[in-house]
Amino acid sequence: MNVYDSDRMQSILNAKGFRSEPELRKADVILINTCSIRDKSEHKVLSLLGELKGLKQKDPKKVIAISGCVGQRMGRTLLQRVPHLDLVLGPDAIDRVAELIESVVDRGERLVEAKFDTEGRKYSQPCLVNRAKPSEFLTIMKGCDHFCTYCIVPFVRGREKSRSIEEIIQDVKNLVAKGTQEVTFLGQNINTYGKGTGQKLSELIEAANKVEGLKRIRYLTSHPRDLGEDLITQFGTVEKLCPQLHLPFQSGSNRILKAMARLYTQELYLNKIELLRKACPDIALSTDVIVGFPGETEEDFEQTLKVLSEVKFSSAFMFKYSPRPGTKAMDLGEEVCESVKEERLARAQRVVYSQIELENLKYRNQIIPVLIESMDKKKKFFSGRTTHSKLVHVMNVGEASVGKIIDVEITDSNVSCLKGFYVGAPKTSIKLTANSGGVESGISSSVSAPLD
Ligand code: SAH
Ligand code: SF4
Repeated sequence: MNVYDSDRMQSILNAKGFRSEPELRKADVILINTCSIRDKSEHKVLSLLGELKGLKQKDPKKVIAISGCVGQRMGRTLLQRVPHLDLVLGPDAIDRVAELIESVVDRGERLVEAKFDTEGRKYSQPCLVNRAKPSEFLTIMKGCDHFCTYCIVPFVRGREKSRSIEEIIQDVKNLVAKGTQEVTFLGQNINTYGKGTGQKLSELIEAANKVEGLKRIRYLTSHPRDLGEDLITQFGTVEKLCPQLHLPFQSGSNRILKAMARLYTQELYLNKIELLRKACPDIALSTDVIVGFPGETEEDFEQTLKVLSEVKFSSAFMFKYSPRPGTKAMDLGEEVCESVKEERLARAQRVVYSQIELENLKYRNQIIPVLIESMDKKKKFFSGRTTHSKLVHVMNVGEASVGKIIDVEITDSNVSCLKGFYVGAPKTSIKLTANSGGVESGISSSVSAPLD
């Protein structure tokens, strides 16, 4: 969602004549879009702000701005704490980014704009991004009504509001006309998209499936309680919906799930997995897990390991619990100590990574369609994803493959990716020049060990 918000602000600023400057020190305006989901991400923001002090001292005309969830959470306090900061804006103010920066430049004011848009359940925010990557994110709703006790999102992104199906489909058509093949719809709790507006996520998926030229549809993030039958049955029946779902379970212990206010049990979660696999036997499932939530005992954690072992996820994002100001879990006490959190995280990772390694082995010698998205960061090959969202490095293709779905024979694999060769060309690795272009992938891998 932050990637999408950053792209949106960039488009708004470009339209007003601002130009991107790759070198931080040369920029007239430094805008940092931030995340406050865990303490560590906030620390990074504050330390980066510290590093920028010298630049501002050298050139007081430079504008330094913070947008996103840290801006929303800290607001005026941030402006008071950081004297060289000029502007703070929350997620609901991103469409005003250009006028706010201009106010700072023109009037030399220091500003905070962190009010929520609290009117109704609908909002309009047509996509402004000019380019169209092979795979694009599209935010379809904002906010969250769930208030899981560890989570800061409802405090920094407000209540749930949705865009209309008509507006979203128009965005999809515009992206497809520019070359996009795949869209990933985004929402914090996307299953309840359309709450209070009379529209449903399953209807949006049906409508997107009819968009000519669009090849693949994905969405995230789902909540186990809110993933309804209509959505489950779409896997395996809606042609363009990829056989892949991110379904965070956070903890396997019913006691901890209750304390987290997740509103489901381990049994309900496993039942949803069963229904999903009945609807679509080869569905690739990914998840989020938190270890070391307050009061989590060894027995509780073993329930998390049990779910990980039973489900065999294709990828998992695993986090140590991080206390967030203002959330209910902060008052629970019973903190799990850091070393125990670390040890549990490592154990959970071992279970998941060994499963993924085995799963990836099965792809060897198979020929699978891959949507090529970009040149790899190391500039050695091009990379893309399968419908199951597996990252594939393709060794014998060039720039012309970007944006195309091609058949790839998998020859190698490890825990983080698959490696293979396009079947329509000789199996020789191509040489890339340092300045070959390529589109940056917006989707990141959960683990990033390189292929040998
Ligand atoms: N709306 C999504 C994602 C929310 S944030 C959902 O409900 O699943 C992404 C992930 O960050 C969460 O799934 C959770 O695993 C993790 N997370 C959120 N708050 C956290 C905290 N205080 N400490 C550690 N991990 C956290
Ligand atoms: Fe946070 Fe997701 Fe829970 Fe909402 S549903 S409070 S975003 S973890």
